[in-house]
Amino acid sequence: MFENLQDKLNQAFKTLKGQGRITEINVAATVKEVRRALTDADVNYKVAKEVTDRVKEKALDRKVLIAVEPGQLFVKIVQEELTELMGGEAEGINLKGDPAIILIAGLQGSGKTTFSGKLAAFLKKQGRNVLLTACDIYRPAAIDQLKVLGEQVGVEVYAEPENKNAVEIAQNALAHARKTGKKVVIVDTAGRLAVDEVMMKEVENLKKALNPSETLFVVDSMTGQDAVNTAKTFNDRLNFDGVVLTKLDGDARGGAALSIRGVVQKPIKFMSTGEKMEALDIFYPDRMASRILGMGDVISLVERAQQAFDEDEAKRISSKMRQNKFDFNDFRGQLQQIKKMGNIKDLIGMIPGMGKMMKDVDIDNDSFKPIEAIIGSMTPIERERPDIIDGNRKKRIASGSGTSIQEVNNLLKQFDEMRKMMKKMNQMNSSGKLSKMMK
Ligand code: GDP
Repeated sequence: MFENLQDKLNQAFKTLKGQGRITEINVAATVKEVRRALTDADVNYKVAKEVTDRVKEKALDRKVLIAVEPGQLFVKIVQEELTELMGGEAEGINLKGDPAIILIAGLQGSGKTTFSGKLAAFLKKQGRNVLLTACDIYRPAAIDQLKVLGEQVGVEVYAEPENKNAVEIAQNALAHARKTGKKVVIVDTAGRLAVDEVMMKEVENLKKALNPSETLFVVDSMTGQDAVNTAKTFNDRLNFDGVVLTKLDGDARGGAALSIRGVVQKPIKFMSTGEKMEALDIFYPDRMASRILGMGDVISLVERAQQAFDEDEAKRISSKMRQNKFDFNDFRGQLQQIKKMGNIKDLIGMIPGMGKMMKDVDIDNDSFKPIEAIIGSMTPIERERPDIIDGNRKKRIASGSGTSIQEVNNLLKQFDEMRKMMKKMNQMNSSGKLSKMMK
């Protein structure tokens, strides 16, 4: 996410960070480079200039020139300005009404249907009774797609494939929701490849008829400036309440994330970073600014972990670790939970400094496949006591998992080292050395 912008900003800060003596000239040069990084990221020139003018003013005001760590103070100032640019505080969605109605609008292919499924899962996790409604009257495939997603996340989908009146379908869905005690109705609408009058009129009619508590505009962040223009067109007609930025996982420049708020004066409420149902996050401008500046986002990382990990399971595992009984069964369970947290590269990017370091390393969730296959080819006893695996069994495990004996050996060796490390930490812990070291 935002690799190009990150690179350019880091390049800009280099002068200030490395410089022994900071002068007004190199502060001015850095400001200029930050401005260029923003315009290269597709941020409107006027906006980029306003932002960097404020950065410059603050830098002089806070005496960056004589600061102990001028580079860091400067980065902090840029972080504050980017946060402001993206809207300051995070804003939640309005769920007033019984049921609350959420209308989803946007162009075809922007990720509306995927987001509808994700939002349903997100709200369901909060304990809400949700109904998904398919109002795309042009593409039967869109209805099927929503049905598949609904099934996947365990949320009912209302559809009338034969009905060509979107308002009528939505109203029938509402009646159905009231009858079945649903508290939130998400209405997925039809999209076109480009903004057109018929489509606009249809969403407008839906909004008038339903009076939703929340109208969300979904937009593909990878389309950069087009995303901003489309947002403006939709907002002029629909006066929506918030923006959902999708496909941030593929967006290297970040222009839409940085510019939309300033142009439409509406908050970005959610961001989507992948095709999986879990890849949805609330949009926090301050965390996003930190991420853009390569400062990581540990808070989001912890939150993802809290969502993916089961507390009882975590307690059981940590007790096994303390007793030096952590085995391959536990390890496999942990891998599965990590995968639930989302795309691995994205997760690594949340650790301060790591995103940049791992930029060119090719890892994805498939990297775990051979490991899982090897563990899958072991017998339950072998998973508990890998030390009993002899040469013959290694050969069988390798052929059973489609890997090589070397890969099996490597995994066994690494696992053994991990166990030794856990043992050492346990010993240090019980002798009080670890807490001393931590201090
Ligand atoms: P709709 O036409 O607006 O309903 O768009 P869809 O929900 O069908 O999404 C279009 C395509 O984009 C599908 O292939 C989705 O899997 C994909 N997609 C949606 N959101 C994301 C995202 O955040 N990241 C990535 N990489 N793909 C996404």
